[in-house]
Parts: sequence; structure tokens; C-alpha cells
Amino acid sequence: MITSTSDPRPADFADVRATNLAVVLRFVRGHAPCSRADIAASTGLNKATVSSLVADLIDRRLVRETGLTENRVGRPATMLVLDGSPYAAIGIEVNVDYITAVAVDLSGERLLSWRRSFPGAAGTAGQAMSTVAGIVRRVVTRMAKEERQVLGLTVGVPGLIGTDGTVRIAPNLGWRDADLCGDLTKALRDPGFPVQVDNDANLAALAEHRFGPHAGTANLVYLTGEIGVGAGVILDGRLRRGGQGYGGEIGHIQLDPFGAECRCGRLGCLEAVAGIGAVLEHAAVSPAEVEDELDEVVRLARAGDARTLALLGAVGHNLGKGVALMTNLLNPEVIILGGYYVPLAPWLLPSAEAEARGRTIAPETGGCRIVASTLGYGAAALGGAARVLDSVDSGRLPRVS
Ligand SMILES: [Zn+2]
Repeated sequence: MITSTSDPRPADFADVRATNLAVVLRFVRGHAPCSRADIAASTGLNKATVSSLVADLIDRRLVRETGLTENRVGRPATMLVLDGSPYAAIGIEVNVDYITAVAVDLSGERLLSWRRSFPGAAGTAGQAMSTVAGIVRRVVTRMAKEERQVLGLTVGVPGLIGTDGTVRIAPNLGWRDADLCGDLTKALRDPGFPVQVDNDANLAALAEHRFGPHAGTANLVYLTGEIGVGAGVILDGRLRRGGQGYGGEIGHIQLDPFGAECRCGRLGCLEAVAGIGAVLEHAAVSPAEVEDELDEVVRLARAGDARTLALLGAVGHNLGKGVALMTNLLNPEVIILGGYYVPLAPWLLPSAEAEARGRTIAPETGGCRIVASTLGYGAAALGGAARVLDSVDSGRLPRVS
């Protein structure tokens, strides 16, 4: 007999139960309203097991009966939908010039959405952590008033995040080795829900994958268009982080060895020649300033100002080079441009698409569409909440209270 120490241990009953609860929950999320018989037929679980699992999910107030019946031959069935009214998932994005907070319920309904100016680059990681902790306390208080239990919090940061939630390097914020997750958990005095920290592009990709018009697309890339540029990569339906979680840093691939200096200290990085900084004339620091300047750029572009159109065309070409890197390497079905790229998309996309088509070896850019995000500036924060919901969907269910 051949044995191996890597043989899987037999799963214990609790593991199997949690896995099956997650299977049923995901089915209801994807197919509601649906009956217990539908769940049994589609999942292969027997009817008695499904009934027991559904009863458990109803006890946890994750699923509820609607009383609707299917109009078909046979006994009318009680239909099930997601409940989740007693729950909230929180996402926060800390960026160079703003902080966004979002809370959603289990079905993804937006419960609150806040955005405020934040001088991230001017302060320390500790100051940012205190500000975030203050915002989290306010969100939690608000959720408590609505009698909602917080399922978890994910904070998005534009930087390299270690698997333990430490911000290793956030070049645009000037942070290094900041234990944001640990410090935030301490500042919140063990809040009773999991706190996680993730890269902003990863979270925005999760938001698109769960909530956006391209939700469910198996191969999707989200490109942040903030002061920095990063990619969140979903392949075969899963977020890909790489060995230590540092993948997707397309913003620091050199496009031009003689190009503008990047905030990382190198020359001609994609974010230096195709980021928002390459569009704006002044180094704006607050989102209000950036948005004011962008409004002016959009106004000039609409008016057909030749200099503005040439500038946007050039930035679009550089962006297209970055897009081609991804289409050649990953063959995504869609690349979604986020953040400040969104209002500029009508002028960036034509040259970006032309450049990407010319540089991608597969015909028609490998079938990849380049589109502007519709999730707005809160995409990464929304993705923070999506990551919490992902973890519930994969079996980390709230306890019955
Ligand atoms: Zn760089």
C-alpha cells in the first residue's frame, strides 16, 4: 500500500456541514427565488439534507421563505430568497487623496456610502489608521442602530499587502511595513468581526466580479485609475494574487526608460506616463482638486481643444501599451478601467484600443473588451465588502445569535 503524508485527512462532520451550508447559500444567492426541490435537484444533495440545511440557514437569518409558489404541476413549493437583513459587510478604501466607506447587506444592497477628502500622502500610516478606526466606529454604530451584525471589514490600500495584512510598501502613501490590520484591530478593541487589509485593485476586481455589469466573467482585469495604477486580476473565476500576494503591480512596469519620474523612484513607469498625473497639469492633492481639474480637461476635450485631445490621445496610447501587456500575458475577456479613468474614457479608449490591438499577438486583442467601470469611485471599498461576502459564501457563516 502506498501512503503519503500529504493524504487529505477525512473531513469531519462540521466541515462537511459548513461546506454544504455554503453550497445551498450560494445556490439561493444565484437562483432565488427557488424551492428546496430546486436546490436538491441542482446540487445533488438529498431532500432531507437540503431541508435540514435550509432550516439552519433560516435560523441564521441568511435565507427566508417568501411564500411565493412556483406555477407548475404538483404540490406548490415554498420559495426561498436571501435574507441577510440583520447583517452588514463593511469595506473601506484608503487612497492618496480620499477615504471611502461602504456597507452592504448580505444581498449586496448598499446600506451606506461615504467619501471624504484625506491627505494620505501628507500623513503617517498611524494617522491614517486612527482616521480609519474613527470611520469604522461610526459605521458600526450606524449598523447597530439598524440592529445589524457586522460580518467583517476589509480595508483596501494602494500598495503591496503581506498575507498577514501588513502594508509592505505603499509608494504613493509613503508607507512601509505598516501593520495596519493589527493596529486597526487593537484600536477597535477586538471588534468581534474579522478585519482584513487588501490591495485596492484586488478589491475593485472583486467588486466588479460580484456586482458590476460584467459580474461572473471568469477572466477579468480591473485597472485602477487613481494617483497610482494597479491591476486586480481574476482568472478562471478566482482572484490571483501571486506567491506573496504582490501580483498585479502593472503601474510599475517601465514603458519608457526616458519617461517621467514615478513616485516609486524609477523612470517611465506606466503610472507615470499613463496615470492621472500624466493628464493633470498641477500636482493636485485632494479629490476635489483632482475632480475640478478633470472637469476642466473633460470640458476642453468636449470643446475639441486640440492640445487636450492630443494629450489624452498620448496618455491613451501609453495605457494601450499596458493593456497589451495584460492581453498578451493573461488573455482576459474584459479589462475594466476604474477611478479617474472613467470620466476620461471617451477620449482615452480609442487610442488605448488601437494601441492594444496593434500590440496583442492574438487577433482582435484576444477577444478582450476594454470598458469603463460603472461602480464609481467606491469600487475598492465595495470590493472590501464583497470580500467579506465571499468569505460567508465559502462557509464562514455567522453564528446563530
Ligand atoms: Zn513606479
